[in-house]
Amino acid sequence: MTPAVLPLTAAGSRKGNLILVNREHPLQGELIPDLVPLTGGWPDQHLDRTAARMLAAASQAVQGAGQILPVSGWRSQEEQQAIWDDTLQRQGTDFTAQYVARPGCSEHQTGLAVDLALSADTIDFIRPEFPYDGVCGNFRRVAARYGFIERYTADKQEMTGIAAEPWHFRYVGVPHARILTDAGICLEEYPAFLRQAPRVVRLENGRRVRVSYLPFNGTDTTRPAPGPCWQLSGTNEGGFILTEWEVQP
Ligand SMILES: [Zn+2]
Repeated sequence: MTPAVLPLTAAGSRKGNLILVNREHPLQGELIPDLVPLTGGWPDQHLDRTAARMLAAASQAVQGAGQILPVSGWRSQEEQQAIWDDTLQRQGTDFTAQYVARPGCSEHQTGLAVDLALSADTIDFIRPEFPYDGVCGNFRRVAARYGFIERYTADKQEMTGIAAEPWHFRYVGVPHARILTDAGICLEEYPAFLRQAPRVVRLENGRRVRVSYLPFNGTDTTRPAPGPCWQLSGTNEGGFILTEWEVQP
């Protein structure tokens, strides 16, 4: 059962599906994601349990089995460091800074991000091919319905600090992927967007969801829960995002 109070804590403000992880907002403290192995892609890749289930469902919806391959999921700090060092050595500073996040600043360390490749004889691990047409295009069209966003687009490079990465998808959850996609904003813009006004969306199953931003002053506290059905995520930028599902009559 969902508790009757919202726990607003410093630790909680740094974790959840909606945390911002970038150069200005590195991961703080140790995240312990609930990971499961990813199937149908490269061996030994893991993803957050819910994200993995939704990825499999999205792939199934577009009949992507054998064509859409998850090539990189969760990474430890050490793995991210190794990728950074290796890319720096092979490709130099400019390329590395454009396409590889600094250790501690990679979404892959949350278990909520996945790099997808179109099946091919050779796949570039750093920049896999994931085109805008065919089965990959179909995947893009359904991604938001399964809670995923294309995280790094060319038009948001100034804000994300990462060059366009058509292969990198981030799980944020269904209502949020819908809101972000429809508004044409990136995750960096989401807290300010919600601060303007809470948003209400109607999901495909007809249920209404209200999403609002709660600032956090740094002192652990609780406040009464708005209803029986809610979810709270930290933003890792000083607040929380509250998601409330309308109670079915
Ligand atoms: Zn990635």
